[in-house]
Amino acid sequence: MLTYIVLLGPPGVGKGTQSKFIASELSLPHISTGDIFRANIKQGNELGKLADSFISKGQLVPDDVTIALLRERFTQPDCKNGAILDGFPRTPAQADALQILLNSFGGKVNLVLFITAPTESLIERLAGRWSCRAQGHIFHERFNPPKVKGICDIDGSELYQRDDDKAETVLNRIQIYKKQTAPLIEYYTERRLLIEINGIEPIESVSMQVRSVVKKALSSSHG
Ligand code: AMP
Repeated sequence: MLTYIVLLGPPGVGKGTQSKFIASELSLPHISTGDIFRANIKQGNELGKLADSFISKGQLVPDDVTIALLRERFTQPDCKNGAILDGFPRTPAQADALQILLNSFGGKVNLVLFITAPTESLIERLAGRWSCRAQGHIFHERFNPPKVKGICDIDGSELYQRDDDKAETVLNRIQIYKKQTAPLIEYYTERRLLIEINGIEPIESVSMQVRSVVKKALSSSHG
C-alpha cells in the first residue's frame, strides 16, 4: 500500500518538525526538498550553486529543477511504500507534476496537512530557529531548546542558524509563499485532500492533532 502525505504551510510553521514525527510514526521517508538543496549547497556542486542563488534571496528554485530532483529521489529504495513530502509541492505546476509522477506508479496524494499560524509568530519562530548540520533536526531557542546550547540532542552535531532565516529574507519568503504556494490551498481543497491544523499550539499538541488526523484520513483513503 502506497502512502503519500504532503505538508503545506508558510515557512516557520513547523512542517519540518511534524513531517519528521509522521515519517517516524508511519515508517516512511521524510523528503524535504529544502534539506536536499542544502545538502547540495554544502557539497558545493552545480545544483547547490544554482539552488543557492535562489534560496539566499528567499526565492523558489525553478520548477523544472525541483521536479527533476524529486523524481530522482522517488527512485531510491526507501520510497517503495510512499513518502512524507515536506516543502514539495510549492507551486501548482509542481502539484500537477507530482500527481502525474505518482499516477505513473499507482500512487496518489492521500492527504495534505495544511498547518497554519499568524505571520507574527512565523517571524518569531524563524528568528529563533536552530537546525542541526548533520540531519536538519530542528530546535528553537525558546519553544524547543536543545539540552546543550548549540548541540543537537539527537545526533550531537552542531546547531546553526540558516542564512535564509534572517529577518529580511524571512519577509520575502512569506510574501513568496502567499503569492506562489498559497494557491495550493484551493488546489487541494477542490480535490478534498486538505485538512487544516492549527500550528500555533505547543509542538506536542500539534503532533497529537496530526496523529489523529492522519489515522482517520488514511483509513478512509486506503479504504
Ligand atoms: P525549506 O527548507 O522547505 O524552508 O526550503 C528552503 C528553500 O529551498 C526555500 O525557501 C526555497 O528557496 C527552496 N525550496 C525548497 N523546496 C522548494 C520547492 N518545492 N520549490 C522551489 N523551491 C524550493
